Amino acid sequence: MPRSTQQPPAPSRSGMAAAEPAEIQRLVEDLDGMLSRLRLGAIREQLDGLLEEAARRQLNLREALAWLCAAEVASKEQRRLSMAMTIAHFPFVRTLEGFEFEAQPSIDPGKIRDLGTCRWVANGDNVVLLGPPGVGKTHLEVALGREAVARGYTAQFTTAMELIGALVKAQQQGTLEMRLAQYAKPKLLIIDELGYLPLEPAAGHLFFQLISRRYEQGSVLISSNRPVDEWDEVFGDQVVAAAILDRLLHHSHVVTIRGDSYRLREKRRSGLFRPQAGGSSSAGIGGVPPPIPAEEA
Ligand code: ADP
Ligand code: MG
Repeated sequence: MPRSTQQPPAPSRSGMAAAEPAEIQRLVEDLDGMLSRLRLGAIREQLDGLLEEAARRQLNLREALAWLCAAEVASKEQRRLSMAMTIAHFPFVRTLEGFEFEAQPSIDPGKIRDLGTCRWVANGDNVVLLGPPGVGKTHLEVALGREAVARGYTAQFTTAMELIGALVKAQQQGTLEMRLAQYAKPKLLIIDELGYLPLEPAAGHLFFQLISRRYEQGSVLISSNRPVDEWDEVFGDQVVAAAILDRLLHHSHVVTIRGDSYRLREKRRSGLFRPQAGGSSSAGIGGVPPPIPAEEA
């Protein structure tokens, strides 16, 4: 292919030894353009600083090249991460480090930290988080979802209502197949708040279609305020509920959280509420509840 007159001469295979100083100068002048063409945006933007730093550290050429590449790789990884986090649609930022295990003694920290390694995502297993409102289910879903994204997996967060609403609408519009395929795509699908409202049997059946589509393909992380033996009420149909549970629980980790709402702990301490039976408000918190973190949503 003929080269355009705009392009600098390519160095010969034997290297730059034969290049005239004027040619080198032209290459240097086109460096910005070449870096753009190669999509090495971080190197282009930080070139002066990076080269100065490389000189200050007296790096040899190979070391300097590695140093520049590392800056580009870090920047690309950062961009990938922030893009994947955006696509995941987490409702707020929550992390495993930010989860106070002392506040929720019914949770085994080792089990959650093990889930934090995301081996279950790699294996396509599911995680079911069960517990009353305010005990940290959504917090853990977001935190585990972020761990998965940080490890390079695609994730999508949705609520059960949003998901079912989208499936019902798609069915009415004749685009169910497309929607199911869309929800089947991320390696990890997080479904928050199943069970707050009972579903019509038809909606339960759509949910079943989704779960069986994802079965042994990708992971589902699902939370519910209702124990699984009440899911036939949630889905409005015993057979559909059994079929969903069969697939969901086949390769799964179930985490049951018992205890009081984290949100209400301070209020409870001030005497506004009485602790729930079997609750954990008095256990393991040393009498001093940590401040309730501000919502970052
Ligand atoms: P659920 O989804 O079970 O109703 P959330 O995860 O929404 O509860 O928790 C309510 C709020 O309390 C959130 O802001 C969450 O970050 C916080 N929270 C709950 N449990 C803990 C905990 N053990 N440590 C730190 N923050 C917590
Ligand atoms: Mg929640």
